[in-house]
Amino acid sequence: MFAASSKLNTLRIGVTMPTVNAYAAPGAAEPLVKTTIERRELGPHDVLIEIKYAGICHSDIHTVRGDWGPQQYPLTPGHEIAGVVTEVGNEVTKHTVGDRVGVGCMVNSCGHCVNCEKGNEQYCLEGNVGTYGAVDRDGTITQGGYSTHVVVTEDFVLRIPDGLDLDVATPLLCAGITTYSPLNRWGAGPGKKVAVVGLGGLGHMGVKIAHAMGAEVTVLSQSLKKKEDGLRLGADHYYATSDPETFEKLAGTFDVILNTVSAPIDLNAYLGLLAAGGAMVSVGAPPESLAVNAFSLIGGGKTLAGSMIGGIRETQEMLDFCAEHGFGADIELIPAEQINEAYERVLASDVRYRFVIDAATF
Ligand SMILES: [Zn+2]
Ligand SMILES: [Zn+2]
Repeated sequence: MFAASSKLNTLRIGVTMPTVNAYAAPGAAEPLVKTTIERRELGPHDVLIEIKYAGICHSDIHTVRGDWGPQQYPLTPGHEIAGVVTEVGNEVTKHTVGDRVGVGCMVNSCGHCVNCEKGNEQYCLEGNVGTYGAVDRDGTITQGGYSTHVVVTEDFVLRIPDGLDLDVATPLLCAGITTYSPLNRWGAGPGKKVAVVGLGGLGHMGVKIAHAMGAEVTVLSQSLKKKEDGLRLGADHYYATSDPETFEKLAGTFDVILNTVSAPIDLNAYLGLLAAGGAMVSVGAPPESLAVNAFSLIGGGKTLAGSMIGGIRETQEMLDFCAEHGFGADIELIPAEQINEAYERVLASDVRYRFVIDAATF
């Protein structure tokens, strides 16, 4: 199927699998290096995407460094991918050559379990197939978006609406859906008070999305360092959590608290900021267990919840929503050779607010 196209001269076509440029971690403790990886030959339902941009997510760093369990190396990370379709399998109906498309955190699922049937492929009972470092349904280990091309089954390829530039759309594929889904589910909208804890890659999208949904938005950040940014991104209020007065002043205030912080926090203190019937939903993943006093929930009928990315249908809805409201992520565009430096800056929270790699430099 690859041989049939003349558009593929940027690929080196092997006998069975095309080889493409990529960046990969050779081991858990090693910096990423320029390399090549193999992509599978196009199947009947596959789409070949020429990647234009790949976002750097905090999860990429945790995964390649083995923080979340052992990996098979070399490993190419990247689960925020935007590009253009250059070839489709002969049974593909959802995408055509030239379409602007995206791929997020998963590239497959069983398709028939109760969660897949509801459109919650991220919660597939057989396990969704992560975009990198996961065993695909054909037994191979998936390789992510820090690469020039990727082959993905059509059901896991999203349309990027014309109104969105590809570079700023890229982080929506993880950071966007990770914050949109819980805000949507827990009813962020007009008349609702939403707090976003943490103003990093996830938090800055949470602020933009909650504001666009019509909610009154408050940022709760450790300090007031990024206050100006927070207000520019759409927040109505901004408080420092290092100031104990914040927790007195805002007690009983919020309908929804979106916690984007991966460091351990005092859940009971934050639950005290919820109004009766309110929900606090965590999308950050601290490695430790956190203590919750039952009375923090019982008094006020409060909910403590979690959320992981979103299904494919909802991810498309999120992209359409962002296009309609005219915003993507705030990004710093970098060449591939700066990936390792960018990782250090992400770990130091020194990015406003997402690194995006120009795929032409892979
Ligand atoms: Zn991510
Ligand atoms: Zn499933």
